[in-house]
Amino acid sequence: MTARRDYDAIIVGASFAGLAVARRVRGDVLLVDRHEVGAVQTSACGTPLWVPRWLGVESSVLQVHDRLDLRTPGRTISYDLRAIPFCTFDYGAFARGLLAQSTATFLKTAVLGLEDGAVRTTAGRFTAPVIVDASGWRGVLVNGRGPALPERGGYSFGLEAPTPLGDDKLTFVVDRRVVSRGLGWVFPVGRGSLIGLGSYAGASRLGPALRLFLADLGAAPAGYHGTFFPSRLGRPTVGRLFAVGDAAGQCLPLTAEGIRPALYFGDRCGELIRRVLAGELALDSALADYRRLVLRHRQAYRVLLYAQWLAAHAPSRWFGTIAAAFGRWPLLAYWWPRYGTFGRLAHATGGGSAVIARTGA
Ligand SMILES: Cc1cc2nc3c(=O)[nH]c(=O)nc-3n(C[C@H](O)[C@H](O)[C@H](O)COP(=O)(O)OP(=O)(O)OC[C@H]3O[C@@H](n4cnc5c(N)ncnc54)[C@H](O)[C@@H]3O)c2cc1C
Repeated sequence: MTARRDYDAIIVGASFAGLAVARRVRGDVLLVDRHEVGAVQTSACGTPLWVPRWLGVESSVLQVHDRLDLRTPGRTISYDLRAIPFCTFDYGAFARGLLAQSTATFLKTAVLGLEDGAVRTTAGRFTAPVIVDASGWRGVLVNGRGPALPERGGYSFGLEAPTPLGDDKLTFVVDRRVVSRGLGWVFPVGRGSLIGLGSYAGASRLGPALRLFLADLGAAPAGYHGTFFPSRLGRPTVGRLFAVGDAAGQCLPLTAEGIRPALYFGDRCGELIRRVLAGELALDSALADYRRLVLRHRQAYRVLLYAQWLAAHAPSRWFGTIAAAFGRWPLLAYWWPRYGTFGRLAHATGGGSAVIARTGA
């Protein structure tokens, strides 16, 4: 098969990471996904409230949360989130809102891989000098022909169910009796909650444990969805490919927050690509700048990975004692604003140049 068409840029995956890139880039851009934009939700869609505000999609917010309870055996720790409130949002409205800000051409097709530098899809082959892999944990382009293997480690698995149960706070549960080496959550979404379990060990057979958890809470599930998500930073660039979001392992360990990093790094990557297409920056320099930007956050990922290891391996009661200390002043005042503003630099400065300048690029 010969190349059907040349684009300035091709973005594979039209969820958080891909849409964040697409809304920044201008030119002849092809955005592809195997599903319609916003049609398939895999996440509880919890993120700081400043995120949808920054992106101009605040109308997608379903519920605002200024409290988070962490339940461990024998104690419940309440975190005051008022300094940086969280929210849960409607995935479809959020994704479509981002798409509306993009001028890219959207094509619904499954990507099969790279072949002689071209993106091979079920709709034919497409070429472009700039290619972004935002295809989620599988990383359909950056991982080559074989998909990433979750059993090699570095991947968690999450399974959740929409339920009619309402609540006025976010809840995390770290308790071996509920899920071993993992966490449970109740994320209220206005009418009802998304209730789920995550395994840091990547165990994907969470159905029986989730059914017990739901029964304990008295919540009736209306279906299930789940998938893997990474807990280790991967490569931000591979050859001339940019990787963003779960495709680059950017989901935060411990809390499994992957939306904010996908949007943040996607926005920064998109800004660099915009400059490449405008003739302001060479592609090699953009790749190097993006690599440096991501790797600048390595330490934060290491700290969270260590905390995830504690949550998975320390006796739940010990973890509860540590978590309680982190829920009180002065520790809470130290870490919560830092965690809650991860990725906010772009929001605060409103542009990419400040961020890139700080990386020394
Ligand atoms: C149960 C669960 C709950 C979670 N809850 C939260 C939460 O509350 N808050 C939070 O911040 N994070 C949460 N996460 C993590 C978060 O969902 C991910 O980190 C986030 O979705 C990553 O975004 P992404 O755009 O990189 O990848 P994805 O959202 O996975 O998007 C990848 C896109 O690529 C497309 N695609 C994949 N392969 C192909 C292909 N071959 N061809 C064409 N298209 C393709 C997919 O259709 C999809 O649209 C949760 C994860 C799970 C599993």
